[in-house]
Amino acid sequence: MAFDKVPQQPRTAARIVRWTVLALVLTGVTALAVLHQRAGIAKPVGVDALCPFGGLETLGSLLANGALIKRIAPSSVLLLVAAVITAVVFRRAFCGRICPLGYLQELFGGIGKRVFGRRFVMPSWLDRPARYLKYVVLALILAFTWSTGELVIRAYDPWVAYNHIASPELFTENLAGLIVLVVVLLGSLLYDRFFCKYACPMGAFLGLISRFSIFKVRRDANACIDCKLCDKACAVNVEISTAAAVADPECIDCGECVAACPAKGALGVRTRSGSTLSPLTAAILTVDTFAVLVLAATATGGFAWTVPTLAESVAATGGTTTFDTALIKGSTTLAEVVDASGIPAAVFTQVYGVPESEQALPLKELKETYGCSPGEVRAFIEAYRADPAVAGTWAVGVFHEEEGE
Ligand code: SF4
Ligand code: SF4
Repeated sequence: MAFDKVPQQPRTAARIVRWTVLALVLTGVTALAVLHQRAGIAKPVGVDALCPFGGLETLGSLLANGALIKRIAPSSVLLLVAAVITAVVFRRAFCGRICPLGYLQELFGGIGKRVFGRRFVMPSWLDRPARYLKYVVLALILAFTWSTGELVIRAYDPWVAYNHIASPELFTENLAGLIVLVVVLLGSLLYDRFFCKYACPMGAFLGLISRFSIFKVRRDANACIDCKLCDKACAVNVEISTAAAVADPECIDCGECVAACPAKGALGVRTRSGSTLSPLTAAILTVDTFAVLVLAATATGGFAWTVPTLAESVAATGGTTTFDTALIKGSTTLAEVVDASGIPAAVFTQVYGVPESEQALPLKELKETYGCSPGEVRAFIEAYRADPAVAGTWAVGVFHEEEGE
């Protein structure tokens, strides 16, 4: 196993912007994830609405029948569009400058560097073939998701697990994803961007696009002093010091190589014809692309930040108290069901034993203790509508829920 000393990087404005944006995105997404799990009314949307890979997963369904697959929101498609636009212009700028899972790995990488004083590098006989694994992961996920219309990878997804850190589902539905997350973070202690390099399907997708990017890091061989500091600064181990242009799909456009270069003009963010952007301008343009699209979509109602209550969903579908019970999800509270259905809260206490004081909790949190899963409650409401006397004879547990959110 080869390893390298970690050189000290200069504090440039572009690096400070990058770290600030990454820290803000990770903090914001973590806060939204916790609120999504714990908040009652006006809870933020969950991970499925805030991940651009969801936009890719739903693309098959969107193109085939114009519909999004279950759990995926239009906001995911919008984030995918932003990631693709920035990839066409700046390579994998989403990976290097926005992605909170990438930053999480960098944080663990920083801890690892402090502990070990150096970073580890896989031997090339293992590293090179292992990097193709992410393309296999991408192909398998898209093939299965597009053919089944289900989020097949969700249970194993480390990012979905991270977004359930405040949920009891972390150790049940998301246990496999949690195990993957722990492996990813432990791997990141030793190897920079461990998940990005070997397993991330979103990184693989953006890498394919980045081959055609307009701007790349390009090297002027006449100015280069062959110090190889750029190679040491690269988190994904691209060899920059011998390339005329960094065309490797592994490049995450983090700009660390440009910041590390001591020779004026040797490295720059340039087009093929030589037009140059400063690293700071490239960083700001990337963030602006995401910010402008998200703000515009939020203003026009295309980007929802909160989960609609059951009453709002019912109103949006023109429903009444006899609404379509499919609108009841795992995140729906019994109190919302009471409001929307007109069935008294006392009936749910009688049937499921849920005291009114706990009816503000989502069904997914009540189902273990009281058996009132979403599928159960749907079935009960339909039976109650036909004959309210069923409340006295209802057998809890005959029906079972099949979904969480
Ligand atoms: S490779 Fe994946 S995890 Fe890494 S920064 Fe890109 S999208 Fe994020
Ligand atoms: S850091 Fe700059 S000068 Fe040193 S090898 Fe890389 S491009 Fe050349």
